[in-house]
Amino acid sequence: MPAPIIVWFRNDLRLADNPALHAAASAGAPILPLYVLEEVPDDPRPLGGASRWWLRGSLERLGAACAALGAPLILRRGDPAAILPALIEESGAGAVFWNRRYAPAQTARDAAIKEALKRDGVEARSFNANLLAEPWTVQNKSGGPFKVFTPFWRSLSATLAPPAPLPAPALLPAPAAAPASDPLDSWGLSPTAPDWAGGLRAAWSPGEAAARDGLAAFLDGPVARYPTERDRPDQNGTARLSPHLAFGEIGPRQIWHAARHAADAHPDRRTGVESFLREIGWREFNHHLLHHAPHLADQPLDERFAAFPWRDDPAGLAAWTRGRTGYPIVDAGMRQLWETGWMHNRVRMIAASFLVKDLLLPWQTGERWFWDTLVDADLANNAGGWQWTAGCGADAAPFFRIFNPVLQGEKFDPEGDYVRRFVPELRRLPPRWIHKPWEAPPEILRQAGVRLGESYPRPIIDHAQARNRALALFAEQKGRTL
Ligand code: FAD
Repeated sequence: MPAPIIVWFRNDLRLADNPALHAAASAGAPILPLYVLEEVPDDPRPLGGASRWWLRGSLERLGAACAALGAPLILRRGDPAAILPALIEESGAGAVFWNRRYAPAQTARDAAIKEALKRDGVEARSFNANLLAEPWTVQNKSGGPFKVFTPFWRSLSATLAPPAPLPAPALLPAPAAAPASDPLDSWGLSPTAPDWAGGLRAAWSPGEAAARDGLAAFLDGPVARYPTERDRPDQNGTARLSPHLAFGEIGPRQIWHAARHAADAHPDRRTGVESFLREIGWREFNHHLLHHAPHLADQPLDERFAAFPWRDDPAGLAAWTRGRTGYPIVDAGMRQLWETGWMHNRVRMIAASFLVKDLLLPWQTGERWFWDTLVDADLANNAGGWQWTAGCGADAAPFFRIFNPVLQGEKFDPEGDYVRRFVPELRRLPPRWIHKPWEAPPEILRQAGVRLGESYPRPIIDHAQARNRALALFAEQKGRTL
């Protein structure tokens, strides 16, 4: 009987199109599926609260799926550099297979583990499960990394031929003796904040089956309207696959093939599919950036922003995190984030712009809040999105493009339905005033039951003045360093 193979699951919590699992299952050896809740010294990015909630649900499903195929999932907690050798010793495993991840601290950890395993005579093999093209395989004409999205995507999509997704194994043979596993409940992954989990549970169903069903439902029709509806937070116009992708419950190759198939079968969905895959391309681009600029999550890519005189404003920050800025579209977004662990992309940009440009708070502060509260928190996409909005990223919106929260609300949530859903105290305001209640005549406010400054805050800052202040500061800085 060959020695068992450990399949170390990380952000690839699926059975289908999982190259590490597929290779192990094809080897004819017993399989030890393992997940480690990583606790390592000085971890720069422990999982945020919403991600921990998601992880619990995802592991529950993965555990059930592995057990059904014959090999129960082993759960261990601690430093994988110690856990893997211990499990090898205990089980007699001769190999460890895993799929690669791309956050800098994780790649460094994985490289050290691979070295150590090889030194001990254990086979260590890694695979690509989570990107269409790994960052080092895409180069510009001079052989360097891309800094602008459009040429990156043009170059990548011109040559892209991702292999067909791998099937889930039909069987996972287990070794005779099953190693011990932590009870999932002992990990304390559920949020301690009262009622937080209730909102997340109502909004989402983690796991591979929900990811697959979500993709199928999106490609079955809504994708055709994606180019026009993707910017509308009041519509269900996007795929809502981001947390499934962040945890690897579905992979980009599966998405790419399914989307292409939908476009071939239904020519009316072709434009929508192109536009949808372009966003998958942004995910690839952000991973490319993070690989080539490992400090993406902490330091501005445009170094001239390192000396920007950000403000310190605890009251403004608290109003922003709680969705009480007095700007309905910003508040709806921040409350959607807290209630459901997700925020529509257009509103992420509006809310981020408000924090950085109206309140002049550092983008890193917002990035951290999103990291803790998003179920799709992903280092590359989050840092990329924040740097893009702040104007200091690669191919970013320039700093002087400052979102006007009223005009953005009126354009992308024209009837105010999105605001009404998440800011119920404004739900009886007519569309004309819903994005600027402070301009509504007193009679309208009275009829709608809105008492400004009591039931709903007045704007914590005047947007026109804030805009001028930001532009003046920007011009001043530009004279010096920018
Ligand atoms: P769809 O529009 O259906 O797109 C499909 C997939 O493409 C998404 O699931 C995602 O993987 C990718 N994608 C879509 N838009 C973008 C984008 N602008 N940048 C990169 N990838 C994209 N996305 C995350 O996955 N994790 C984050 O932590 C994150 N933080 C963000 C922070 C800010 C400030 C901003 C502006 C954007 C952030 N995004 C993040 C990108 C984007 O908002 C989400 O990926 C998107 O809203 C997810 O919803 P969806 O699955 O319905 O997207």
